[in-house]
This record gives sequence, C-alpha cells and structure tokens, in this order.
Amino acid sequence: MSRAFNFSAGPAMLPEAVMRKADSEFLDWNQTGMSVMEMSHRSKEYMAVATKMEADLRDIMAIPDNYKVLFIHGGASMQFGAIPLNLCEQGDTVDYFNTGVWSTKAIKEAARFANVNVVAGGQEANPTEIPTQSEWSFSEDAKYIHICSNETITGLEFQEDQLEAIFAQGKPVIADMSSNIMCREIDVSKYAMIYAGAQKNIGPSGLAVVIVRDDLLGSAREACPTLLNWETYANNESMFNTPATFAWYLAGLVFEWIKEIGGVKAIAEINQRKAQKLYDFIDASDFYSNKIKDSERSWMNVTFDLKNSELDTAFLEASKAAGLLSLKGHRAFGGMRASIYNAMPEAGIDALIEFMQQFADQHG
Ligand code: PMP
Repeated sequence: MSRAFNFSAGPAMLPEAVMRKADSEFLDWNQTGMSVMEMSHRSKEYMAVATKMEADLRDIMAIPDNYKVLFIHGGASMQFGAIPLNLCEQGDTVDYFNTGVWSTKAIKEAARFANVNVVAGGQEANPTEIPTQSEWSFSEDAKYIHICSNETITGLEFQEDQLEAIFAQGKPVIADMSSNIMCREIDVSKYAMIYAGAQKNIGPSGLAVVIVRDDLLGSAREACPTLLNWETYANNESMFNTPATFAWYLAGLVFEWIKEIGGVKAIAEINQRKAQKLYDFIDASDFYSNKIKDSERSWMNVTFDLKNSELDTAFLEASKAAGLLSLKGHRAFGGMRASIYNAMPEAGIDALIEFMQQFADQHG
C-alpha cells in the first residue's frame, strides 16, 4: 500500500508515523484486549491517555497555568456561537476583523448574540490582503476582538506586527487558529482565547481545542446551553458527557509526534522552508501565480492559479494520477490550493513542484 501526498484543506493528511502507531494498536491498546475507542472514558487507562494528551499540548504550546485547555466536540464552527454566549450579553458590542469566508461565518453567528462591529474588511468575500492599519476602526466598548488568524480558503495570514497592534488595544483577543495552530511558536499569554478545529494540525475532525484564560470562565450568559458553556468543560476535564475518545487519542499521538521531532520550533522551520520553496517556485514561473500579498501569505494554505484556467481540469487529473491529491481550490476562490500542514513532508512539496514544472513544460 502506498500513501499519496494529500493536499486537502481538512480533514487533512496526518503524520504517517501516527497512523502506523494507531494501526498497530487498533485492536488491542496497551495489552488491554480492546481498542481505545471501546474503552470507558472514565477508566483508569483512558484517563491516562487524556491526561497525557493535555500535558503534551500544554508543553508543545507552552500554555501558561492560568489557561484551561478544553476539548470540545462540534468543531470550530460551534465556537462561533459559543464565544459571544460565554463572553457577553445580548446588545454588547464585540469587534471582529473580516478577512475572508471564515471570519464572515464567525461574524454571522456572533451577530445573533451581540452587536458586531466590523473593525475592517468585509467589502469583498475573499480579500487577498489584510486591511491596512489606518483602516481599522475599533469600538471603545468592545468586550473582545476576534480574528481568524489564517484564512484557509485564500491562504491569508495575520503577521506579527498586525497582531501586536491588535494586542495593544488592551482588549481580550480571540483567535480562530483552525488552520495555523502549532505551525509556529506563539505567545499564548497574549490571547484571551484560542480555538481550532482539529482536522488540520491536530487530528480527526469533529473536535475543537479551546485554550481559554481562567478569568474568562464563569461569565456565560444565563441562556447559554450547558454544553456551549466553557465552564462545563473546565470543571469536568472536558468529560461532562462522553467525549470524542478516539479523536482525543489520535490528537495525543500527533502531539507526541510533534514532541519527538523537536516541538513547534522545529516544525516551524520546516514549515517556513516548505512554504517558501513553493511560493518561490510559483513566483518564478510565468505559468502559475498567487494572488495573496507577499508578506501575508500563509505557511499552511498555498493558493495558486494556472495562467490559463482552461487547463485546470487537466492539471487536477494529471496531479491526481501522479499521487498528488486534493489540489482543487475552494469553490469560493477557484484555482488551486495546496494545504501543507505540519504532517505534509517536505518530499511532498518537492514532488508537487516537480509535477508543476513538468505540467508547465508540457502545456506552456
Ligand atoms: N475556521 C477555519 C479557519 C477553518 O478553516 C474551518 C474549517 N475549514 C473552520 C473554522 C470550521 O471548522 P469546523 O468544520 O471544524 O467547524
């Protein structure tokens, strides 16, 4: 059996070493005679898995002690509504950046529960740059500021100086890091709450990781459903009801893998090199192009167009035949997208570049 290089935006490729380990202990985990997915979440054995997983994530991301780490079913989208329900009352003002489709979805949901001020953006569905700071308009009484730190569809990522300017507002900053969590080192203490759907850099879909500062807990509004209230998860080790046990276990294997290869610092170096290589190739080519502002290009989602879009179908068919999967861009943005999360080996980038070169040579 051979594994292809899968460039899917999510669910995405997981590290081969992780998949092999899960495979090897699928039927009999740790000589218990059962699969980890058949085990009570309250058993001593499973609790050990859960405890280690959280400890490893805390270690990898250097999460300070005054932050809770919650594992919540429902993916990242469920947090779009949970955020205002936990942090403000109906009629309160909240600040949102609109840098693309995922921001727009978060805004739409938040607007049901709060008065959303769009700090900047939103004029176009798929902007190719972050609005310049002179256009930002914060509201004085906002309860928090929300960003999508990496827009997965376009591959547009907030940069350090922009983030610093946002932190400087002195408000709780909430970040949707679904598509760039653990791709580089970050200072968690600058954020009030970070959330991410698991299916890109963490593990199987359906699970969200929520990292939230202690003092934000306990103020959910009265009407907030129990299972949307972060405090419920914080007070019950994310086991108020039955958690997504297999997804947790697999995420735990991914965290172990990250530690083994040197942590997020080591991964970040590889990620930067992978992304740079691909962008350099695209920029040097007159057959392919990328629309995103140079300095705001994502390390995780590399979008590109063929100069002649009539060749798109042929490109997708040939790339698939070459074992390079899921390169079709999101229908909202068109073109191609190579999602190159932590688990994508550098060899996958080399193979993609080689294929793109050959395709250009044949059709240019
Ligand atoms: N935010 C971002 C940035 C995403 O890329 C995605 C999924 N592609 C989501 C939120 C939604 O995640 P989920 O499907 O887990 O709800």
